[in-house]
Amino acid sequence: MDISVIIPLFNEEESLGELHAWIKRVMDENHFTYEVIFVNDGSTDGSWNVIESLAKQYPEVHGIKFRRNYGKSPALYCGFDAAQGDVVITMDADLQDSPDEIPELYRMITADGYDLVSGFKMNRKKGDPLSKTIPTKLFNATARKVSGIKNLHDFNCGLKAYRNEVVKNIEVYGEMHRYIPYLAKNAGFTKIGEKPVHHQKRQHGKSKFMGWNRFVNGYLDLISLWFIDSFGLKPMHIFGFIGTLIFLVGFLAVIAVGGLKLWALHHGVARVLVTDTPYFYIALTMMIIGTQLFVAGFLGDMISRNSQERNNYQVSKRI
Ligand code: UDP
Ligand code: MG
Repeated sequence: MDISVIIPLFNEEESLGELHAWIKRVMDENHFTYEVIFVNDGSTDGSWNVIESLAKQYPEVHGIKFRRNYGKSPALYCGFDAAQGDVVITMDADLQDSPDEIPELYRMITADGYDLVSGFKMNRKKGDPLSKTIPTKLFNATARKVSGIKNLHDFNCGLKAYRNEVVKNIEVYGEMHRYIPYLAKNAGFTKIGEKPVHHQKRQHGKSKFMGWNRFVNGYLDLISLWFIDSFGLKPMHIFGFIGTLIFLVGFLAVIAVGGLKLWALHHGVARVLVTDTPYFYIALTMMIIGTQLFVAGFLGDMISRNSQERNNYQVSKRI
């Protein structure tokens, strides 16, 4: 099979029929053998009925139905798991991504030898409000810097193409769908490219990712990934180093404070205690709490990665 198209969706009943027809047209024109896997992420509308009736008419259409809404990353994870095509293409269900890009994406993977090709939404300014585009720019600049993938402008584009091997060897969990290129790079797939793609305004329904918390979460995820990439296998290198450093500074400070006090006592000079100023305690407490929180967050992430249940999603039906 040439291509698997994976479509995560949450309440997109109005778009599915048109999206499928469009994909089918492109695939037939280019004589691809393919499958379309709709991953229904706990939709509460009629999305699953649409998928079921499509699957009845067209044998190349498959569906995975989550019992509840887990998020886009878990949906992609299960789609990746099921994908059989040589090239795997992910696409949003809301008709914002154009299936017309599929042949060129396929060519870039198979002929140019890319491991992963990410879409780059060219004309998004027309559709999206500034409150979305400016944080997105900032987000991408940071992601480029931290991940070291310098040629990507749009990490979070839903339209991406992968060599099959890539999707079988990365684990998209939590909300990590924003950083799949980084996950792929960490797994050793370094030939990562970009293709400018057409992007339309959402036709039906509302965006499922609204508000500022997505950026906060996005940054926290990025820090987590960077940590796991840099120190995940050797946390002692960083925590041991910082811990030793802080301890040494504290130790030297104690010697200095004690020494000065002794010197003052010895010479009969009056001296205010360092510990008599409140700032000393405030700074100390904040440092301790901050360090502890950070370590706790990191440890939590490590534990969640190693837990057996991390990718147990409740799939109620497969067709
Ligand atoms: N999506 C999903 N589960 C969720 C949220 C979103 O499967 O919990 C799907 C959604 O149906 C769409 C894709 O992820 O197919 C991208 O979502 P959306 O278009 O709302 O994001 P935006 O384009 O606004 O960033
Ligand atoms: Mg969208």
